[in-house]
Amino acid sequence: MIIVMQPDAGDAEIAAVEAKIRAHGLDVHISRGTERTLIGAVGDERKLDPEMFDPLPGVERSMHILKPYKLVAREWHKASTVVDVRGARIGAAAVQVIAGPCSVETVPQMEAAAAGVAAAGARLMRGGAFKPRTSPYAFQGKGIEGLTMLKDAASRHGLPIVTELMDVRMLDTFLEHKVDVIQIGTRNMQNFDLLKEVGKVDVPVILKRGMSATIGEWLMAAEYVAAGGNHRIMLCERGIRTFETAYRNVLDVTAIAVLKKETHLPVIVDPSHAGGKAWMVPALSCAAVAAGADALLIEVHPCPTEAWCDADQALAIDEFASLMAKLDAVAAAVGRSVDRGVAANEPLAA
Ligand code: PEP
Ligand code: MN
Repeated sequence: MIIVMQPDAGDAEIAAVEAKIRAHGLDVHISRGTERTLIGAVGDERKLDPEMFDPLPGVERSMHILKPYKLVAREWHKASTVVDVRGARIGAAAVQVIAGPCSVETVPQMEAAAAGVAAAGARLMRGGAFKPRTSPYAFQGKGIEGLTMLKDAASRHGLPIVTELMDVRMLDTFLEHKVDVIQIGTRNMQNFDLLKEVGKVDVPVILKRGMSATIGEWLMAAEYVAAGGNHRIMLCERGIRTFETAYRNVLDVTAIAVLKKETHLPVIVDPSHAGGKAWMVPALSCAAVAAGADALLIEVHPCPTEAWCDADQALAIDEFASLMAKLDAVAAAVGRSVDRGVAANEPLAA
């Protein structure tokens, strides 16, 4: 059972709900978000009824949730959640595009990438400073220096940043560098300790789907973040492993439709890691927008053939710009638009 508190509910009102749940022999989980507190009753729910909680002061409403994932379920939160990242709203009517290189390499590469993706209409910039590589001998990312390079280049062009956190020991460094969105990669989707820690911070999270994770497992992973009190979660479909070997991963378009029904969280699609080849990215991006994705996460490099990581799947700046024009048409066909922002290319305040 979930008890949704009013936004202005105080500690005494929360404590009264907690006491009532405990009096019936159930355990309590409190998720204190920035907007409101959600109280979960854990145990034999048959002993509880919404009528026991709805009249209590500070309670907005309460209900039984049948799904194993609770806070992220659309069952209690019919409206779609909109995650606002410094004015770029993900989950609202307009589609957002997040673009940038797979990894942060050099200052000139980042400047060219930031200038190019901002001019083409991206509202946020991606770039990995800490890279999860299959081989320990492959480039592992520029590390902390890379965070600074990404933040500096993106800020000059008005773009908030998205970057992957692999190690919980780096979380404070991410906060110090004012990372705007923390990405949890496919390989860490079920790193529960990492999920618990990002659940405690007030920074939006992109949770990528584990490459072999079911939608249920993915939503339970998102529940870990929400349970900690961080409700600003976005899910990112990036392709799953199947028997098919003709491309890197299979973009699960069906998941977009299922997620839209099951959860109120925004859905992002990464066509780059799905196809694994630049020439597939436009088709997969169009399919994602047509199917209802709220945002795209696309790898773009000023010189793809020279990329230090995932060179095959990076779009060049001009290819990205042509794709943006195509996406405008696809979005319009499904009653949406692509957000180009009003202040694109204006430097962001620190
Ligand atoms: C990435 O976005 O750079 C990345 C490593 O993605 P994934 O975790 O989906 O493989
Ligand atoms: Mn990559």
